[in-house]
Amino acid sequence: MIKTEEIKFESQGDGEIFDLTGQIAEKIKSSGLNSGTVTVFTPSATSAITTIEYEPGLLQDLPEFFQKIIPAEVSYKHDETWHDGNGYAHLRAALIGPDITVPIVEGKMTLGTWQQIVFLDFDNRARSRKVIVQIIGE
Ligand code: ZN
Repeated sequence: MIKTEEIKFESQGDGEIFDLTGQIAEKIKSSGLNSGTVTVFTPSATSAITTIEYEPGLLQDLPEFFQKIIPAEVSYKHDETWHDGNGYAHLRAALIGPDITVPIVEGKMTLGTWQQIVFLDFDNRARSRKVIVQIIGE
């Protein structure tokens, strides 16, 4: 069985972090699938998917970490191409990557207790976002 779904939401951008774990778990539950994998993918070049412990400290640490390694104020070649000022957002998205795949066992994702699936929006403006959730298995 292959089931492909979407999660849609409005984002403010600028490093906003969304916990998608609950919505993904709901889609797996309603699919009735017992064993397989779920792939979560963002079709965007300025956002990323990863896991963190979704708690207030890390929600501050993570943006600070990105600011240290890929500062927003630095001029990047991409900004000369498009003048959209979000070269840093593309680089941060490339570093983290657009997807994650999680095994499903007995109808549930095999995530650790403190491991949430998060969407990171690095862009420098608000926009409508869409994430693809594809469930494969039996
Ligand atoms: Zn751009």
